[in-house]
Amino acid sequence: MAGPCGFIGRAVRIYPMNAGSAPPVSLARCRSYDRDEVRAAVAACLAPLGGIGACVRPGSRVLVKPNLLSSRPPEDGVTTHPEVVRAVVEQVQAAGATVIVGDSPGGRNTRSSYDALLRNTGMQEVIDATGCAAAYFDDAYDEVPVPAGATFRRFRIARAVTEADTVICVSKLKTHQLTLLTGAVKVLYGYIPGIAKAEYHLHTRTDADTFADLLLDLGSPFPPALSVMDAVVGMEGHGPSQGTLRQVGMVLASPSPHALDMAAARIMGFAPEEVPTIRRAIARGIGPAGPEAISFPGEPLEAVRPPFVRPGPIPLRHVPAPLVHLAGRLLASRPVIRASACSQCGKCAESCPPLAITFVKGRVPRIRHHRCIRCFCCQELCPEGAVEVTYPWIRRVLST
Ligand code: SF4
Ligand code: SF4
Repeated sequence: MAGPCGFIGRAVRIYPMNAGSAPPVSLARCRSYDRDEVRAAVAACLAPLGGIGACVRPGSRVLVKPNLLSSRPPEDGVTTHPEVVRAVVEQVQAAGATVIVGDSPGGRNTRSSYDALLRNTGMQEVIDATGCAAAYFDDAYDEVPVPAGATFRRFRIARAVTEADTVICVSKLKTHQLTLLTGAVKVLYGYIPGIAKAEYHLHTRTDADTFADLLLDLGSPFPPALSVMDAVVGMEGHGPSQGTLRQVGMVLASPSPHALDMAAARIMGFAPEEVPTIRRAIARGIGPAGPEAISFPGEPLEAVRPPFVRPGPIPLRHVPAPLVHLAGRLLASRPVIRASACSQCGKCAESCPPLAITFVKGRVPRIRHHRCIRCFCCQELCPEGAVEVTYPWIRRVLST
């Protein structure tokens, strides 16, 4: 990896993350991943926002950053569907810009494992067909100052991000064990290269609000000029990687990732303030002041019925916070490895921030729960779905 570079003085994008403005969120119906249908939906979604030309200059270098969490095929619904990425890439190219596509998946990545991931997720086919370039996030980064950061004052950000003139994020609508919703703001975590993500996780420990603050800080120097969301098929329940697919039939877009997530929360049937990234953004005056401040110039916003299944028991909002804190481990969820499903690949151990998982080749890993910070990276990244999150009975009772 490259060492710190002279970042200070670089130009950054100017979308007013702190403006408290009323950004638009545009929605378009899209019932399937049929190529022409997705193309039409993405175009229809961008039209009320002024088209792609509103955020892309001819001749500029645009990073299109999907959610490439792990090496799973498109039909698993874990990563952004390649047809949505393709439609966005084509739009950007038609505007006369050069496109690179990439993300930093969770865990430790090598060039060959990343190449395999691009093939498995269908991204390589998009890259080949459109003639854009693949960005490998994990070989070079910049130390980027974030003077007003609430968590860190510097972030290690992949050079693929810092060298782009414009970033367009293409997220996937899913539930998430820690952040309830993973969408337009959570996808920014991929700015951090590879295993460094684990170091940042370690800092936030089990606190979802601190992790949300970190995501907000991370997005401040390089906010996406446009956020698109693949909500054709979403994921509910044990997201972001072990949940159940849910047909939603929409593509969404907004110049504000915060507004987009507020709309996504409404679609899923969650109160926006339940989502830590939205709650903290409102508290810090980042993005729109609330869902009522968003305009919908495309199709009207409708929540799905029934609401998305949550990734765990509802938060203990009616139990006083000091009691929750005191009860600590008694109420805490915890990851458990199902030995029968484990392929003993060791991926969970290598991506565990506090090194709470011991792994010996040829054996099922062992979780030392006293060291666990409940970040659920192990569940997120296990390729076999062998990590389950369990909740003590008292937590389930208190949540009802
Ligand atoms: S629990 Fe999952 S990630 Fe960990 S070793 Fe087993 S299969 Fe691999
Ligand atoms: S065991 Fe799993 S949930 Fe616990 S700290 Fe490690 S990766 Fe995070």
